[in-house]
Amino acid sequence: MSSTNSKAPNVEIKYTQIFINNEWHKATAGKTFQVINPSTGEEICQVEEGTRVDVDKAVQAARKAFDIDSPWRKLEPVARGNLMRKLASLLRRDIEYLSKLETLNNGKSVQDSKGDIFFSADCLDYYAGWVDKMVGETIPGAQDQMIYTRHEPIGVCGQIIPWNYPILMMSWKLGPALACGNVIILKPAEQTPLTALYVASLCKEAGFPPGVVNVIPGDGPECGNAISVHQDIDKVAFTGSVEVGKKVQEAAAKSNLKRVSLELGGKSPLIICEDADLDHAVKLAHRAIFGNAAQRCTAASRTFVHSKIYDEFVARSIELAKKRVVGDPFDSSTEQGPQITAEQFERILGYIESGKKDGAKLECGGERVGKKGYFIKPTVFTNVKDDMKIAREEIFGPVMSILKFDSYEEVIKRANNTTFGLAASVVTKDLTRALTFAQRLQAGSVWVNDYDAVCNQAPFGGYKQSGHGRELGRYGLEEYYEVKTVVIKLI
Ligand code: NAD
Repeated sequence: MSSTNSKAPNVEIKYTQIFINNEWHKATAGKTFQVINPSTGEEICQVEEGTRVDVDKAVQAARKAFDIDSPWRKLEPVARGNLMRKLASLLRRDIEYLSKLETLNNGKSVQDSKGDIFFSADCLDYYAGWVDKMVGETIPGAQDQMIYTRHEPIGVCGQIIPWNYPILMMSWKLGPALACGNVIILKPAEQTPLTALYVASLCKEAGFPPGVVNVIPGDGPECGNAISVHQDIDKVAFTGSVEVGKKVQEAAAKSNLKRVSLELGGKSPLIICEDADLDHAVKLAHRAIFGNAAQRCTAASRTFVHSKIYDEFVARSIELAKKRVVGDPFDSSTEQGPQITAEQFERILGYIESGKKDGAKLECGGERVGKKGYFIKPTVFTNVKDDMKIAREEIFGPVMSILKFDSYEEVIKRANNTTFGLAASVVTKDLTRALTFAQRLQAGSVWVNDYDAVCNQAPFGGYKQSGHGRELGRYGLEEYYEVKTVVIKLI
């Protein structure tokens, strides 16, 4: 099968079925769903739609793979790490194909897809390095006691991921879970299942035993919910909206109290101080909102600018936004592809209307690009006030909201006045001011003179309703092991 986008190269779709026990299965309920190319709005292919019964099947396979005497459990940690490194090398081997498949299905530029795949392979390598370093402790007790702890895998882990970084989110989930020796049932977003299915085939090729990694394409309310409520799944990791994150946590609590980690949305502030290098600040703010077509939980969707540099910053930001190249993600000059679905596209245009209605000034953009696909012009609003909808809710679209501030105390309060707390950034040359912001901003990541400085070695996650638990780094492992205390009486 090939893509319907005229400029896109032919991209063969190799896998469209459910991956359980290292085998491909048709959906038990006999249903399929449509996968759409966001650049054209046309169908790419049909994919088998997993439901509760398929989740049950995957749980059985995963349980068997997790049996204490299974090949997976008997593998030495170093051998487990080698399988992960092999998977990383297969991602790199197939980067030309995989990047095109990601671009076809998600709409991000091929360069961005390649960046995501390198990041993903590095993530698997990073966690492969941890397999033989997850040491417990010996703990001082009474003289006739020996006390120590063991880190043990949790078991069957459900992983539900979104559409904005399909391969990257998969690797962030697989890496720490496999490093700790767990088994996995992963549900990709219904909008973007294609690369997850291909990566499933690479897991088999790498040599992971049957049942260790299972991938079930399907929708949220049926397939995702079947994972969250399952009595025999031990943990669920979720990335997506706050609304669904709450449902997942509730379902986990009402079923078997499975462990939950949540990576949710944001309304992240970027604060430009009066001493900022303006050229750097303008480019940073542009990238911080418009990157990945602003379909990022970390998107800098509130740009606070000091009143002394406000006018100049606004003029230059508008100029840059107008120059941004929006179009075919297979064209190497493209900077911004389409939004993911017709629904997201309409939702974003709705937010732009609400900004205008609430009295913000639309400086540029605000409308679609072309007649086909879900492209939106980079949009800049000024005169944005804290209580406007565009300043409070996650838009997940290319809308820059610029807000003016006069004092640093004031802007810290305003930046923190949100239910989210994923990320924040400050641009300044003043060390004390930078450290004060870093201390007082309520966010899981604070960047200084940079944005989205996310790396495999450092934890990433949210304060407040941006979620709980951390991904990446050593902290990311803590979501995937149990701590067992062993006490021996020396008699
Ligand atoms: P979503 O939260 O609806 O979907 C994310 C994942 O959850 C998908 O795999 C989906 O199938 C699954 N899901 C949906 N309902 C479920 C349920 N009841 N039980 C279990 N799983 C379920 O996100 P979306 O609809 O794709 O996007 C809507 C909004 O979510 C966006 O506008 C944005 O605000 C936010 N979002 C955040 C991120 C992030 O990285 N934090 C990513 C994508 C979307």
